[in-house]
Amino acid sequence: MKDVLAIYPGSFDTVTNGHLDLIERGAKIFGRLIVSVLRNFDKQPLFTLDERVEMLREVSRPWPNVEIDVFGGLLVDYARLREANVILRGIRAVSDYEYELQMAMMNRKLNPNLETVFMMPALSYSYLSSRLVREIARLGGPIAGLVPAAVEERLRAKDLT
Ligand code: ADP
Repeated sequence: MKDVLAIYPGSFDTVTNGHLDLIERGAKIFGRLIVSVLRNFDKQPLFTLDERVEMLREVSRPWPNVEIDVFGGLLVDYARLREANVILRGIRAVSDYEYELQMAMMNRKLNPNLETVFMMPALSYSYLSSRLVREIARLGGPIAGLVPAAVEERLRAKDLT
């Protein structure tokens, strides 16, 4: 699939080793991978959009075919703009499936030519979520091994109270 351009969209509000696992898998399979951070005005994020972009740039440095971007609005519109043919999403457990299926089907309805591809992370990351990592960090628990070292440093520097 070396001629395929894929988009990996998400909030990435604390980049985890699970995200990184998926970036690595995606970078190996697809010719190009755009990791794109959703600009979501409703949520009160822990990391600003710029911080999330910086974090993703730092951790994806080993893969030259990975680009970091930001998007807003409909994913199908953004995919058309970037001329991407695939959306990459991660599935950790059955609990992810229902929501992801709904999104994939709706995106297919909006653009039948856009395929959603799901990948599973290594088993050791299958319980990992940004929300849990934020929670553990806020409560002063150990986050080593859950997030890349650069992200761990940023989490420590944040006032989480
Ligand atoms: P969103 O708000 O779009 O779910 P996230 O940053 O939480 O944004 O997740 C982005 C994508 O990464 C989703 O497809 C999600 O399933 C996937 N993902 C998140 N954590 C993991 C993980 N530990 N392993 C594999 N995929 C993951």
